[in-house]
Amino acid sequence: MPYNELRKDYLLDRWVVIAKERSKRPTDLAKARPEAAKSAACPLCVGNEHMTPPAVLLLQSVDGEVKRGHDPPEGQRPTNWLVRTIPNMYPAFTHPQRSEDALKIFSTADFGYAIGLHEVVVESPIHEEGPADASLPQLELVIESYIDRFRALAAKSYVKYISIFRNYGLEAGASLSHAHSQIIATPMIPTMIKEEKQAADNYQKEQGRCVFCDIIEREVKTQRLIMENEDFAVIAPYASINPMEFWILPKRHAPNIGNLTPEEVKSLAATLKSSLKALKDLVNDPPYNYGIHQTIEEGYHWHLEVYPKLSTWAGFEKSTGVYINTVTPESAAEALKKAIKP
Ligand SMILES: [Zn+2]
Ligand SMILES: [Zn+2]
Ligand SMILES: [Zn+2]
Repeated sequence: MPYNELRKDYLLDRWVVIAKERSKRPTDLAKARPEAAKSAACPLCVGNEHMTPPAVLLLQSVDGEVKRGHDPPEGQRPTNWLVRTIPNMYPAFTHPQRSEDALKIFSTADFGYAIGLHEVVVESPIHEEGPADASLPQLELVIESYIDRFRALAAKSYVKYISIFRNYGLEAGASLSHAHSQIIATPMIPTMIKEEKQAADNYQKEQGRCVFCDIIEREVKTQRLIMENEDFAVIAPYASINPMEFWILPKRHAPNIGNLTPEEVKSLAATLKSSLKALKDLVNDPPYNYGIHQTIEEGYHWHLEVYPKLSTWAGFEKSTGVYINTVTPESAAEALKKAIKP
């Protein structure tokens, strides 16, 4: 009988049982997916621009070139967009009602409501064109929209963190099936990122090096490497809490995506597409979430974490914060690596 391994996250004080004993092959996880209910009119589709708040950023195709713009406050809204970023219609965090100057003297909790911003990045005019299927130039525009909004939101005095994430599939919480990501700017640094940052700071103090740079250096030599290129490494993390979880880590040390070079944007699009396409092919287009971990200030190493939704957390996980993962990161990496198309 093989023993299960108890592993701790690289940084977080978070434990996972890698259940070798009842381990599953990645392909065992493939199952039929429930169809998203097709609503009569998708508010994110071309022609329905009037159904949403006005866009704060439009990447438009004008005479064969990509131009930046936004919706006019009144009147006809452009329909020739390639990527459209709009305020969320049901925001979790809302724009402050007072001036930014007034915000400086109050702690944000004094306001009694969640101040911040919540936006939706409509990734394509084509309803179902997510990153696994989009063309690379299209995906580059999505990443450019992330960068553009990151910069704009980071400049606001009350914004302490900018979460860029994607929910894909009903079971992963996507209420709209049109390809989209979301951006939430918060007035505090979320606990998980704070803990990662604290642990990384401690490592830096003790070892004199960045822990993420060290993770990349070590993991590319292990069975947990999925793919790498000049700019990025994709790994199945040592203590993955989700079956088939993988992280995309930039090789260039930078706190956030704000200063990605045009080459890095291209490279990130290619890396994101190949890894998500491999996941889609391998386990029948599973629901997943991804999120970018980054900080506005220096002293961190941004990365993108992908959490496929292939298992259900139950009593033990919910009541202890300790997880059981039935696919070893090593077998997840091996399967994803094989599924990647060059
Ligand atoms: Zn649509
Ligand atoms: Zn680093
Ligand atoms: Zn992280």
